Amino acid sequence: MFGLIGHLTSLDHAQAVARDLGYPEYADQGLDFWCSAPPQIVDEIRVTSITGQTIEGRYVESCFLPEMLATRRIKAATRKIINAMAHAQKHGINITALGGFSSIIFENFNLEQIHQVRNVVLDFKRFTTGNTHTAYIIARQIEQAAPMMGINLSDATVAICGATGDIGSGICRWLNQRTDAKEMLLVARNQERLLALQDELGRGKILTLDEALPQADIIVWVASMPKGVEINPAELKQPCLLIDGGYPKNLGTKIQHPGVTVLNGGIVEHSLDIDWRIMNIVNMDVPARQLFACFAESMLLEFEKWHTNFSWGRNHITVEKMEQIGEVSVKHGFRPLLV
Ligand code: NDP
Repeated sequence: MFGLIGHLTSLDHAQAVARDLGYPEYADQGLDFWCSAPPQIVDEIRVTSITGQTIEGRYVESCFLPEMLATRRIKAATRKIINAMAHAQKHGINITALGGFSSIIFENFNLEQIHQVRNVVLDFKRFTTGNTHTAYIIARQIEQAAPMMGINLSDATVAICGATGDIGSGICRWLNQRTDAKEMLLVARNQERLLALQDELGRGKILTLDEALPQADIIVWVASMPKGVEINPAELKQPCLLIDGGYPKNLGTKIQHPGVTVLNGGIVEHSLDIDWRIMNIVNMDVPARQLFACFAESMLLEFEKWHTNFSWGRNHITVEKMEQIGEVSVKHGFRPLLV
């Protein structure tokens, strides 16, 4: 059995979903209520691979909301994640993906130190961040979508916003080792980590966001921002490919500008319909087939019976592991979203 720990993108979103799912007692409540709400299993899932194998899973809503970080309710935020993990384990789930902010909170607040939640002794081997598959899928989106827009990677400047993050650094390694991308622009705030990444890659220009955006043919957004940024598309190159892999989205506005294409980053499409309600709730265009790559990672680990924390910790994503998860992704019928 695989599991997914997820959360909604804002308080407004959470209230609307609670109403739709038939939890009216949650629908009119403010942030304080969500801070004290316990985790819930809200969906039972069946997925069939193109090999014919079928697996079962559960979706655990952690009741975390990004506003908890924005308003410094750190204790509530960390409690949400650790309680959701204990809930998943207590319900017999063998491998669970920590979606969206769950893994970021786990890492940033050192939740690995917490071994016990009431009577559950947490077994971290049963959890994966799903970030290796996400990094692989975004890397393939770059490789496959760029030529569709007339962008040749060997002539292209690629800006990675969130380059020093777990997913961002994996994408940088892939671009460096597996492609002939002409130039990489490394964007994040902490200079020390940027210099360490530049040193590891042996290339890449460290720039601020404002400096990088007008120079880039391809912009990859994988910065862990609780709220999206506003950018002026008139300042971008044309053509320009924007791949927004953030959850919540890193881009604050819907961009409609000739020559600028925005792609939903880190999203996969399955070849067969999946029997679930949850992707409808997070507004996927084709909810029966499209899902977050990190969630798909827990499915892949279940299909392969790799019941281990395949993606864990920070900045350990290697090109070899991306290739390994990529191979089983293709085998079971997942492909990167390209439109
Ligand atoms: P990390 O926390 O490991 O990395 C975040 C990166 O963003 C760091 O480089 C950080 O560096 C940078 N960053 C944060 N804030 C800013 C800012 N304001 N300006 C510029 N850079 C910034 O995150 P992950 O790699 O785990 O996740 C990245 C994103 O991907 C998140 O939005 C997450 O929700 C999403 N995600 C999507 C998945 C999917 O399946 N599609 C799966 C998992 C995650 P610094 O702090 O130095 O600025």
